[in-house]
Amino acid sequence: MFDTLSDRLTSVLTNLRGKGRLSDADIDATAREIRIALLEADVALPVVRSFIKGVKERAKGAEVSQALNPAQQVVKIVNEELVGVLGGETRRLEHAKNPPTIIMLAGLQGSGKTTLAGKLARWFAEQGHTPQLVACDLQRPNAVNQLQVVGERAGVSVYAPEPGNGVGDPVEVARRSIDEAQRTQHDILIVDTAGRLGVDEEMMKQAADIRDAVEPNEVLFVLDAMVGQDAVNTAEAFRDGVGFSGVVLTKLDGDARGGAALSVREVTGQPILFASSGEKLEDFDVFHPDRMANRILG
Ligand code: GDP
Repeated sequence: MFDTLSDRLTSVLTNLRGKGRLSDADIDATAREIRIALLEADVALPVVRSFIKGVKERAKGAEVSQALNPAQQVVKIVNEELVGVLGGETRRLEHAKNPPTIIMLAGLQGSGKTTLAGKLARWFAEQGHTPQLVACDLQRPNAVNQLQVVGERAGVSVYAPEPGNGVGDPVEVARRSIDEAQRTQHDILIVDTAGRLGVDEEMMKQAADIRDAVEPNEVLFVLDAMVGQDAVNTAEAFRDGVGFSGVVLTKLDGDARGGAALSVREVTGQPILFASSGEKLEDFDVFHPDRMANRILG
């Protein structure tokens, strides 16, 4: 996804090579080019501004280093600033003291929530946990079915309302799933919720009601990195409407510019926890800011 950004940044930084000393003018020119590369990749403007400010201040104030030449020093600074924008340290999931740990997924329809539910479940099962999926997307007729297919593929069970027994209320389903998990010894619940194609108050309220009813240990906002600049607005709407403790970026295998998704940590203040990069269950990993920064800087 970040190939163009990566190429641009690498070439800007390569141009510095061989310079014995960097003047303030050299640093300003480099910062300008980095700025353009970030903006063209759709990184949000406030994020670009603070990034460039950080790079400039640090590069101009950099001590003369024995180990690194000036160009290497700028590369190091850009790398560290990028790691910072992406969240710094890798953030681990919070688990409940008394199981089940409840992880609620929220995001627009098509963002990849159901797929992610399967990926997370498989990942937890591989670590010896006993996860269960909870079907709280009762909006789309086929959603429960789709979650069941995903659950089957991941080899985990799905808690869903029985068809026709009148349990059409996702808040009630979420609530009941906790007692059921305690009874059946599932230590992690992954709650799939309904999304809409666009941000919608009713959907937000439903997600907030589920959140209030089950008090999840984590609410993960699932963000399709392919949506471009809309990513930032959608993230802000979910932050204000539902609130979340972490972000999952999906569709990082796509060829969109993706910079907006990279802005989400800085814009919302919440860390990126996982990254999805394909339709298969194994196309999924913990998000490591340092590894992503290294990937982008080549
Ligand atoms: P939901 O509506 O939020 O539950 O989204 P789905 O999980 O149904 O995903 C919507 C579409 O995106 C499906 O066709 C998925 O196969 C696809 N999808 C989900 N995650 C990824 C990903 O990381 N990469 C790609 N290329 N496709 C994905």
